[in-house]
Amino acid sequence: MRLVLVGPPGAGKGTQAEFIAAHLAVPKISTGDIFRANVSQGTPLGVEAKRYMDAGKLVPDEVTINMVRDRLAEPDAAEGFLLDGFPRTTPQAAALDKLLADLGSGLDLVLELVVDDDEVIRRLSGRRTCRGCGKIWHVEFDAPSQEGICDRCGAQLFQRDDDKAETIAERLREYADKTAPLVDYYGAQGKLVGIDATGPVEDVTVRAIDALRSYGG
Ligand code: AMP
Repeated sequence: MRLVLVGPPGAGKGTQAEFIAAHLAVPKISTGDIFRANVSQGTPLGVEAKRYMDAGKLVPDEVTINMVRDRLAEPDAAEGFLLDGFPRTTPQAAALDKLLADLGSGLDLVLELVVDDDEVIRRLSGRRTCRGCGKIWHVEFDAPSQEGICDRCGAQLFQRDDDKAETIAERLREYADKTAPLVDYYGAQGKLVGIDATGPVEDVTVRAIDALRSYGG
């Protein structure tokens, strides 16, 4: 299956993408993760992307599309994939359609995680990431037993620059301006299915998998 996951920042795309990709036995391809890996390795791509990421802005389409084109050319993506965080603009969606059409395939389904802005702000502003193992905690919903320390590996937790309040507001504006139009784009193709992404993580996963099943996944 070739799937795309869309939804505002903080909708839980990364978490749900892990479960859904495992369920479907396809690779999860997250542009945010690829950018962050490049940032931490200090590659030229990472240096360029970081300027945008820290400001809550989208990385330019051309850079992002080229990166995804390379990733989709890897053998593990030949039979299917789950894209998490890409496309995020209409030009990216059009480029993806073209790329897949050139390969003789196309997307099967686009799953939209639906969450309102207030919930997104609560989720993102409380999010803390472990410096050691990368596990994501939440000060309110999933707090470690000792504040600021990861229960799993003992390393310190930090707040991602793009999870700070001013950057969250900018990310939400970017989402409304540039990414929300994808709902119409894929709706017009008859490929969009929206699910309620509030409530316990496991419940959202069940809803996602049920939605996929009803579309043959
Ligand atoms: P995420 O982890 O998906 O929230 O992505 C973190 C940041 O990476 C975003 O706020 C953007 O700056 C950048 N990014 C990730 N995916 C894309 C994309 N498809 N297009 C442009 N920028 C992206």
